[in-house]
Amino acid sequence: MESRRTEAPAIGIDLGTTYSCVAVWKHGRVEIIPNEQGNRTTPSTVAFTDVERLIGEGAKNQVAMNPANTIFDAKRLIGRRFSDPKVQDDMKLWPFKVKNGSGDKPKIVVSYKGQKKKFLAEEVSSMILGKMKETAEAYLGKVVKDAVITVPAYFDDSQRQATKDAGTIAGLNVLHIINEPTAAAIAYGLANKPNISQKMNVLVFDLGGGTLDVSILAITKEGTFDVKVVGGDTHLGGEDFDNCMVDYCVREFKRKWKKDLTKNPKALGRLRVACENAKRILSSTTQTSIDLDYLHEGTDFSMKFTRAKFEEMNMDSFDKCIKIVENCLNDAKIEKSSVAEIVLVGGSTRIPKVQQMLRELFDGKELCKSVNPDEAVAYGAAVLAAKLSGIKDNNLQSLLLLDVTPLSLGVETTGNEMNVLIPRNTTIPTKAEKIFYTNEDNQYCVKIKVYQGERARSTDNHLLGEFKISGIPAAPKGVAQIKESLEIDANGILTVTAEILSTGKKDKLVISNKNGRLSKEEIDKMVKDGEKYRLQDQEYKKRMDAYNALEVFLYHMKNRIKEYTIKKSVQPKRLKKMENAIADTTKWLEKNQVAPVEEFGRRKVFLESVFASP
Ligand code: ADP
Ligand code: MG
Repeated sequence: MESRRTEAPAIGIDLGTTYSCVAVWKHGRVEIIPNEQGNRTTPSTVAFTDVERLIGEGAKNQVAMNPANTIFDAKRLIGRRFSDPKVQDDMKLWPFKVKNGSGDKPKIVVSYKGQKKKFLAEEVSSMILGKMKETAEAYLGKVVKDAVITVPAYFDDSQRQATKDAGTIAGLNVLHIINEPTAAAIAYGLANKPNISQKMNVLVFDLGGGTLDVSILAITKEGTFDVKVVGGDTHLGGEDFDNCMVDYCVREFKRKWKKDLTKNPKALGRLRVACENAKRILSSTTQTSIDLDYLHEGTDFSMKFTRAKFEEMNMDSFDKCIKIVENCLNDAKIEKSSVAEIVLVGGSTRIPKVQQMLRELFDGKELCKSVNPDEAVAYGAAVLAAKLSGIKDNNLQSLLLLDVTPLSLGVETTGNEMNVLIPRNTTIPTKAEKIFYTNEDNQYCVKIKVYQGERARSTDNHLLGEFKISGIPAAPKGVAQIKESLEIDANGILTVTAEILSTGKKDKLVISNKNGRLSKEEIDKMVKDGEKYRLQDQEYKKRMDAYNALEVFLYHMKNRIKEYTIKKSVQPKRLKKMENAIADTTKWLEKNQVAPVEEFGRRKVFLESVFASP
């Protein structure tokens, strides 16, 4: 526990397709952490050169010169299979090479320091996350360990898990993976509106660098989120607007100087940077210029750009955005008038025309845009991170009601083992289920004991309740299946259900907050104890595994002896030796549950030799 003092608080990271953002709860509010260049978002780009690896600004700046070894869009690959049609389509657009690795996992191939290297998307994302971690560490002057990372609402389990893995590879302890629109809604305090009647519909419009994601969330007065519908376009965003401007400039250059820029990657690269910059400026002023000396074959380029021109050339894209919002409302069967809040997310929603068109669609309704749209997701993630790391702060409470399970919940299995179904810090409501098998022949009933806590041995945790389910049809051990499920509703009420899968018979137990669950103090103590005992627990778990392995082995060997006896396939003398060995070990096992791990292993090896020798 002591060492934690020098650690920074948990951070929130928005790992974006084109830009990423990191934030932290400090001095009672969220601070967006600027990178080494002073920018509050960092390109999600990683580059490999003959001499170094670059991440963020440095990588983006040299993309034109090193396109084959500059990786972006890793988020479009993460957690997907190589054969996924989306991956196949995206691949056609990338200047870097993607190959099929083992298990249908895409691998990005680059040349680094003169050698061919292959990376999984998780690895590339971990480099970006590592960069965000370093950015936070430099700013806070402390080691950062814990983080909340955001993902799009449409990410499936595999994409979420892969994102979590990327965090782990980056040396982060991922407290939670949260949906981007949910994080943005949290940033606006929409997770804490006790005065709403039942549910409030929130539309999150996220127009970023490469994608448009529209989601409609239903937020309850308990502060829980339900994603009602997601829609969008995976290839519509700021980069399209940049491309439009670049194309326009290329045409202008040709018209004026009769020279073709398109064969000059360095010139195109410079032009692209200048256009993106001009686009950003046009969000706050109505006119700007692009000036690039010696752009191509010694010719300078200079052009005035007005906001009106920019809007005109991108009107088709803007129209598309509005159409997508309308479709989402239709899909969710929600009237425009019953959308309580419209939240702007993504750098491209800074474009005044986009805001205006959205506002008009909603008959002049004001949009939530007081939090910078390209920072809102990281902002919300930082709020959740603070909440999950136990920070007590009134400002925090006013932002977030969202409840999480303070301790792990699980059921006891053979040998007093704690089998966790719902890990601590899971946001509620939540549900988890697992299938268990009988551990005796012809077992008729099972007792389900529900525990709360972090220890490996169930009896070291807090017993919440127990019940029995009986009527299991006769079967050898390990055959009958019992499905056990734990469900916590928005009010924190835990329902434990057991079902005999072959008959469909069910029994359940309901545990409310009041009876049984732990107080804040008890929880704090258990978390502390949990850390203290983690090592002991690992030892215990190892021993339990060794014990179980020996027991299972004994069981199989006993069956084998039965078989030998019936078939008379083994000489009586050898059979006797086997029986003796089994009897000895069984007797020993009964008395020596707490023997050293190695002893179980030794005995198993000995038994194996008895059964193996001729
Ligand atoms: P991501 O889509 O990766 O989540 P962001 O939400 O940060 O990333 O959006 C990045 C996009 O926003 C880029 O295309 C960037 O050019 C654009 N952008 C950032 N600031 C502005 C601005 N002031 N005006 C217009 N576009 C902007
Ligand atoms: Mg984003």
